[in-house]
Amino acid sequence: MLSLVQYHPRRFCKFQYIYPVVSRRSGGLSIGVNLSPAAQCNFSCVYCQVLAENQEISVPKNNPVQNDNPVTSVDLELLDTELRELVGMVNDGSLFRDTWLSRTPPEKQILRDIAFSGDGEPTLSLQFSETVRRVAAVRRELCTESTKIVLITNGSTLHAESLRNTLETLLVNNGEIWAKLDAGTPDYFRTIARSKIPYEKILTNLTEFSKTNPLVIQSCFVLLHDKEPDNEEIRQYTEHLKLMDQIQRVQIYTVARQTPESWVLPLSNEQLDRISETVRELTGLQVDSFYSA
Ligand code: SF4
Repeated sequence: MLSLVQYHPRRFCKFQYIYPVVSRRSGGLSIGVNLSPAAQCNFSCVYCQVLAENQEISVPKNNPVQNDNPVTSVDLELLDTELRELVGMVNDGSLFRDTWLSRTPPEKQILRDIAFSGDGEPTLSLQFSETVRRVAAVRRELCTESTKIVLITNGSTLHAESLRNTLETLLVNNGEIWAKLDAGTPDYFRTIARSKIPYEKILTNLTEFSKTNPLVIQSCFVLLHDKEPDNEEIRQYTEHLKLMDQIQRVQIYTVARQTPESWVLPLSNEQLDRISETVRELTGLQVDSFYSA
């Protein structure tokens, strides 16, 4: 049987856009907001669970590509209704009584965050800004002060002037931005992310953004054809982290679920611990580790 943290369906009951998960990295219940029904993303990560579940949107191998699925729109009124209903189920306890979440331990039955995650890169949605505004309103009306709004992003749009106000709105509503950085060198980035976007662009986005805003860095490390990232890769990764300003913490994790590629496997706990310890030592940052199971 899958553990609660391994079971991450992004569909729940009748809902189309909103789903609950017990999240390792949130430390409890997280409500996911899916703004990408067509799984639109400008990365095609070798470990992406969304790609694993939607093999028809997978991409040619060994070729920097992106998933150019068309931007699809969501029904914002329905999304709003679903979010209010699910938060209501958390608040009256029915979510933990009447659904598969009844297995949730009492200490995890706390709504930690509402997270823009879902089936793709959330900031590519043309409705991202309006959705942030609505989620912030629901949080203010129905959630506790400690509930966060989390944006899980690959960092490719953090430079966009059009998103500046939206990201500010998110941050002032107890928001956190969790930005992906899985590599220390351009070659390794191309292998992992399989994106047309240059590694240097992602680094610049993260570094510049962190000068004026707090960031959480999330890094997924894996075995590629049985090889873990080598010492030099991790050393160069830490050099980039040291150039960033307001890093709240670094989350280092490995895959816990199915990947689209059979040659991509989780690191062992020992391998993950070794990387986390190196990053701690070389950067002085808070590093949290999340194992495969
Ligand atoms: S950035 Fe996220 S959604 Fe996009 S391919 Fe990578 S893991 Fe999947």
